[in-house]
Amino acid sequence: MNSYDVIIIGGGPAGLSAGLYAGRAKLSALIIEKEREGGQIVVTSEVENYPGCIEGETGETLIDRMVAQTEKFGVEHLFDTVRDVKLDGRVKKVICEGGEYEAKAIIIATGAYPISIGCPGERELTGLGVSYCATCDAPFFRDLDVCVVGGGDSAVEEALYLTKFARGVTIIHRRDELRAARSIQEKAFADPKVSFMWNSVIEEIKGNGMVESMIVRNVKTGKRTEVKADPKDGTFGIFVFIGHRPNSALFSGKVKMDEKGYIPTDENMQTSVPGVFAAGDVRVKSLRQVVTAAADGAIAAVQAEKYIEEL
Ligand code: NAP
Repeated sequence: MNSYDVIIIGGGPAGLSAGLYAGRAKLSALIIEKEREGGQIVVTSEVENYPGCIEGETGETLIDRMVAQTEKFGVEHLFDTVRDVKLDGRVKKVICEGGEYEAKAIIIATGAYPISIGCPGERELTGLGVSYCATCDAPFFRDLDVCVVGGGDSAVEEALYLTKFARGVTIIHRRDELRAARSIQEKAFADPKVSFMWNSVIEEIKGNGMVESMIVRNVKTGKRTEVKADPKDGTFGIFVFIGHRPNSALFSGKVKMDEKGYIPTDENMQTSVPGVFAAGDVRVKSLRQVVTAAADGAIAAVQAEKYIEEL
């Protein structure tokens, strides 16, 4: 029988937390995840900003325990790709490659993904020097050099945050002026720890088990330079902040979205469609972290339970 009280699309911290709360509420719940549970957090080598995680916690170990916790409460897990959803009416349908499922309520927890540079070496060295989250990874670069790629508010704000940890921060930007708000720019220009590499793009990241060097091309002159880690450090950090994209294309035209594709909700995680909730990074919100995703998931599941009771 492919019918559930609630189907949760996405198995990151928001989806797993929603599953936990749904399971504890004795709802029949299915979490559908494309490949592997965890979302963006599984690429983090150490999690120290989720309450209760002190030492030796990786994104993967935290997610493993979150998955086990949902299973303890009878939540089902399915690895499949969702192709379409039908959200109108009392019975919602989720059409996957491998079959169709229905539910009284849907929780969208599909997350967001950071835009990557797309150069050789970037994927292989993600979590090994390449990072997309300063809040998560800055402490691992204490007294090391780091580069920040991008010129928007995120890049410049995160560069300033990184100065609290790193020895020096170089902002690598593809133009010769920043996009970031003037007030943020001024702080960066005034900070002795921040330097700039203008008109530059990273063409390749190299390293054996950790970032050791990168090839940077000046887009004006075409000159390529290999920037190597300080020999006494052996490594440096590359933080990429060139924007995020929500994983929401599947719901386009079905729930309201903002101009970037993020899904607005009320404080109960309710979207524009009754019985459809959104939780985590896919939602319009101010802080995208595991702790806020988990909180969203809990609220979404409790509200889904109330919605189902009232049906
Ligand atoms: P953003 O404003 O879209 O900036 C992206 C930056 O990355 C731009 O400087 C862009 O260069 C650069 N970039 C884009 N694609 C690139 C590529 N393939 N290679 C190299 N560089 C690339 O993104 P964001 O900084 O993440 O900010 C997103 C939104 O959140 C913005 O509306 C921002 O104002 C807002 N935000 C606000 C605050 C705040 O108010 N405190 C903080 C963070 C974010 P170009 O400049 O050449 O296009």
